[in-house]
Amino acid sequence: MSAMLLNKEKWPDFVGKLTGKKLWAPQGKGEEMRFAPVTEGEAPALEYGNTRVPPKQAVFPQTETMFRFQLGGEEVEVPEPEEETVLLGVRPCDARSMAIVDNLFGWEEDDPYYFKRRELVTLVGLACSEPGLNCFCTSVGGGPASTEGLDLLMTDLGEHYFLEAVTEKGEALLKEAGDLLEEAGDDKVKEKDKKIEESAGKIKRSVDHEGVPESLPGLWDDPLWQSVSASCLGCGTCTYLCPTCHCFDIQDEVEGFDARRCRMWDSCMFGEYTLHTSGHNPRPTRRERTRNRINHKYSYFVDKFDVIACVGCGRCINLCPVNIDIVEILRQVKEAI
Ligand code: SF4
Ligand code: SF4
Repeated sequence: MSAMLLNKEKWPDFVGKLTGKKLWAPQGKGEEMRFAPVTEGEAPALEYGNTRVPPKQAVFPQTETMFRFQLGGEEVEVPEPEEETVLLGVRPCDARSMAIVDNLFGWEEDDPYYFKRRELVTLVGLACSEPGLNCFCTSVGGGPASTEGLDLLMTDLGEHYFLEAVTEKGEALLKEAGDLLEEAGDDKVKEKDKKIEESAGKIKRSVDHEGVPESLPGLWDDPLWQSVSASCLGCGTCTYLCPTCHCFDIQDEVEGFDARRCRMWDSCMFGEYTLHTSGHNPRPTRRERTRNRINHKYSYFVDKFDVIACVGCGRCINLCPVNIDIVEILRQVKEAI
């Protein structure tokens, strides 16, 4: 696969070459930052940390129509797949999360809604040069320049972006950019490697998960679940904003005779999530829900798909209103084993 250089002065022209495809990039300011469509003619600035809302919504929307129908009718109308979309400035942890979530939506049967979007999406990543305070990607299989899930990775080298194609889709983008790009010589390859090594060195947090997946079920009745969940409000922030969380609900919405079946994000941190029609709830308190969140990511998913369903993005730590910290929970788990 090719590696090229793009002078930052040519960034608007590079973006201009992508016209014809829908472009998404981080928009908004500070805590409101999320991926959203780019207005035509604009070249989005990529100097930001990470978005509050992960880009998972591009392949797994917060709410989507599965099909429309008429009450009493026999036909259903399935919406057309969306247009080709390029996501610019995706952080490596978020791209990696899509590769992890693919396992779930491809489990036994491919989910057509998810995979149609996945095929239409090209992920252009930006390596992290200033990891966040609560990032711990390097201890869960990723890194500030991990390419898993990406089609093209960009690394900021000051005057230039260093562009590496990861897939055929990424290679096609480099071809489209044509003479805007220059060959990356060995000196630039070394500069990029050094920069990435420095970034990885800035990551201060980590989880030691050795032995955790197989030992977690044995801690089912451990008092730690009570203590780590005592202050939880059950708000669902940690799951809604987690790039690997994928729980959903399916509901029918009816207006007169017009109806649609839709799928929307749900959260295992909500009490109603496991509430049975009988009134029984197998996860009646936040203790059981927190235990499930950790087991799901660090044990059940590993058992099923051989990968931890956490990419260490730190969002659940940064955004939990009562400072519940997954790294600290895993430290306590490790201590209890
Ligand atoms: S964000 Fe914090 S308070 Fe809200 S459900 Fe998650 S752990 Fe509980
Ligand atoms: S569990 Fe927390 S740190 Fe891990 S991927 Fe989800 S939001 Fe990020």
